[in-house]
Amino acid sequence: MIGAYPFSAVVGLDDLKLALILNAVSPRVGGVLVRGEKGTAKSTIVRALAAQLPAVKVIAACRFSCDPAEPDPGCPDGPHDAGESGQERPAALVELPVGASEDRLVGALDIERALTEGVRAFEPGLLAAAHRGVLYVDEVNLLHDHLVDLLLDAAALGTCFVERESVSVRHAARFLLVGTMNPEEGELRPQLLDRFGLTVEVRASRNPDERAEVVRRRLAFDADPASFAAGWAGQEAALARRIAEARERVRQVVLPDARLRQIAGVCAAFEVDGLRADLVTANAAIAHAAWRGGAEVTAEDVREAARLSLPHRRRRDPFDAPGLDESRLDDLLAEHGGDEPGEPGEPDDPDGGPGGSGGPGDSDGPEGPVNSGDAPETGSAESSAHESGPHRDADGSGTGASDAPGASDGTGAAPDAPATERVIAAAEPYRVRPFQVPGLGDGASGRRSRARTPNGRTTGSRVPTGRLQRPHLSATLRAAAPYQRERGRSGPGLLVRDTDLREAVREGKEGNLVLFVVDASGSMAARQRMREVKAAVLSLLLDAYQRRDKVGLITFRGSTADLVLPPTSSVEVGAARLRELPTGGRTPLAAGLRRAAEVLRVERLRDPARRPLLVVVTDGRATSGSDVAAPAALLAGTAGVVVDCESGPVRLALALDLAARLGAPAVRLDALAAGGGLGGLVRDYRTDYRKAV
Ligand SMILES: [Zn+2]
Repeated sequence: MIGAYPFSAVVGLDDLKLALILNAVSPRVGGVLVRGEKGTAKSTIVRALAAQLPAVKVIAACRFSCDPAEPDPGCPDGPHDAGESGQERPAALVELPVGASEDRLVGALDIERALTEGVRAFEPGLLAAAHRGVLYVDEVNLLHDHLVDLLLDAAALGTCFVERESVSVRHAARFLLVGTMNPEEGELRPQLLDRFGLTVEVRASRNPDERAEVVRRRLAFDADPASFAAGWAGQEAALARRIAEARERVRQVVLPDARLRQIAGVCAAFEVDGLRADLVTANAAIAHAAWRGGAEVTAEDVREAARLSLPHRRRRDPFDAPGLDESRLDDLLAEHGGDEPGEPGEPDDPDGGPGGSGGPGDSDGPEGPVNSGDAPETGSAESSAHESGPHRDADGSGTGASDAPGASDGTGAAPDAPATERVIAAAEPYRVRPFQVPGLGDGASGRRSRARTPNGRTTGSRVPTGRLQRPHLSATLRAAAPYQRERGRSGPGLLVRDTDLREAVREGKEGNLVLFVVDASGSMAARQRMREVKAAVLSLLLDAYQRRDKVGLITFRGSTADLVLPPTSSVEVGAARLRELPTGGRTPLAAGLRRAAEVLRVERLRDPARRPLLVVVTDGRATSGSDVAAPAALLAGTAGVVVDCESGPVRLALALDLAARLGAPAVRLDALAAGGGLGGLVRDYRTDYRKAV
């Protein structure tokens, strides 16, 4: 593609540049996960890197990009002759769209033709297209679970394996995997995080000079991409050469035993799971040494590698913020080191790659021949993501991801907040009893309610509605069996026509939208009770995280209801906002319900297949605003549960009235924990309850 933005012209983002380069130098590093807010040029820089990768030689007639020097022996387009001619093409950059189907990713096996004609027809997918190039997944956290599994399996094995019933195809699929995600929109499961070699946190620079330079270059590029690129061609060529040389050198780099012990010591101290972190860190340190031009891994190589390979592996709890405490890293490196970290790399860069021995960040220096005028001193080198990324203590006391961008909007104590407000800390979260949306849904896969899903257990068969994807073999054979004589079958083997084909109907679990409506008014604000209410909602949030739900949070107090967390997959943000939630004031319950009805209406338009579960956390008192009858009627038919927070010797059981209006079961706050039997969860709760009082 003409006009990719030059890699060397990217301002700042030094960690991201380094992580991409280390992967370009050594495929063993295992890919990069880029975490960060929107609008940080993540995709620009990934495209720019792809343009820097050495061209690949491929067999022209092969759809699977076999190397003529070393063709894949199992290639579906093979076998290839040893002397087959090759042609050079740039390394591919393939984008996997979030909404892609399984067929699009791994390729499509035509089961219909296999069964009816007995031929093996295979249409290669994106994994084949990305072989020997870059596979880029923007918003990887929004990708369907099942696709993520397929993708990471292929990335780990270097092979794409497609199997449908008894028909299977495999081909080589080795690619540099780059995923991006905005953590505000939901986390990756921890076991998937671990499958990315490196992670980088990016955020736009807060330095005005650097920001101005980014914009200046962008404007110049947009005005005239060709001449902008021409101005950076020298640096780009030098960078490409340096990557190619490092690739050559990487196999010869020595990893001394002392450095390996240092890696093991640091990984053990950060309590990472398994040995994958050690392996990735070692490979990244080797790549860093090669990139630097060194022959042997130094303590500084280990430090740079660990900084990128450990942050996402030391996470223990979904509410812990990611990131790595760099001063602790330095202490550990010194403790396990033997020699002092921070000794500079040998200045033996053979032909003076851009900027000498430092690293890729040096290539943005002011000497860049920018057409738009002089590039000023940007002062960028020291303000990169690793300094501004969130560093938090892992002492568990804390505010979790509360400094995520925007996390405090609308929740912190506002300047005009009444004096009666306060923030009460939550008690410890616990495992909650499971709540489900009744019936059978069609939502995105998850772990809450029953749903028709592409995976899961087979519950029946049907005539396929479109192209046959998941054949139900025995149903197909049963359909074909009665017609064998009339079709003129004479030998062995069933005669199958396409009218016989049946596909499997499968049932699994879906995730839901769990919308919390939490009473934060003065009547709830007795300290001990609010502690318990917050713990209950935190526990429900943790449960929602495990079940792959989207969550939203509405709170009401004073005279209004606020949507403090618009529906998102990021449970961290929900937890952070709940922890900061102040309480006090009157109780506009009707406003809370009305707000919930509005949110659900919009979400139904946005994501019709995702069924909502309303969780109203209240004592049922409404001391302000209109009557609840009308807004409750708006919510009729929505699956829900009322968590009754009333306590004390005199009970009004108002939450039960609300539950009855909503047609929802109610559960007492103290009966929310799992394993409590059904005692606290009563459908016709009122009678039972009045009897008990
Ligand atoms: Zn081939």
